[in-house]
Amino acid sequence: MVHVILLAGGSGERMQSEVPKQLMKIAGKEMIWYSLHTFEENPEVDNIILVTRKEDIPYFRSELVDKYGFTKVRRICPGGEERYNSVYNGLMTIDPEDAEENIVMVHDGARPFVTHRMIHDSVQTIRDGYTACTVGMPVKDTIKIVTKTGNGVMGTDTPDRSTLYQIQTPQTFIYSVIKRSYERRMEDRNRAITDDTMLVEQYGGVLSKILPGSYENIKLTTPEDLEIAEVFAKKFL
Ligand code: C5P
Repeated sequence: MVHVILLAGGSGERMQSEVPKQLMKIAGKEMIWYSLHTFEENPEVDNIILVTRKEDIPYFRSELVDKYGFTKVRRICPGGEERYNSVYNGLMTIDPEDAEENIVMVHDGARPFVTHRMIHDSVQTIRDGYTACTVGMPVKDTIKIVTKTGNGVMGTDTPDRSTLYQIQTPQTFIYSVIKRSYERRMEDRNRAITDDTMLVEQYGGVLSKILPGSYENIKLTTPEDLEIAEVFAKKFL
């Protein structure tokens, strides 16, 4: 069984909007509609767990799930303070007995332009025997390691660009491995963890296979991202 944890539980502060970020409109549809629609239509996905802020659950249910008839959304569950708390809450709704084969895919609701190709490749990679995988793309810019000093931000090192990828979602795992890694994480909250492949690396000792994402699979974070998204969205409507 393939479960998708679709995250929409952030505050969206950097978007400077009154409306929850994932409900902002892009080309006439809610931001979260795009990825929800793709997961709903994808034949390999069985169950979608939508994670939102607790106070937004009724709105997401009536104005999104019921309105568009997303039948694979079996649960809308409350998120937590940090992204990893939201993923953990979503994971806890999965019944370990649900099926013999349990695959968990985690996706940022702020990335509308996930494709069927990415979903298929990710599921197939786990079925081929990998424990974890993510989509990502080679970085285009030179990246610097910096330190913040009294004189401003100073570059201290420049890693070889050919060794750097920007990591996106979906990220896909064997259920038992991500669950065990999360249980360890919940007992040790000291380290900053920014995504789930990092979490299984640190708490499960698992390396992730990196599959091609796309340069359109952007995370909409700040207002100018919405202008770019308007252009990309036309291909998905
Ligand atoms: O904040 P960041 O850009 O890492 O958020 C990535 C995704 O995680 C977004 O879709 C956001 O809604 C979600 N998130 C969440 N719960 C949080 C923080 C972020 O579901 N507490």
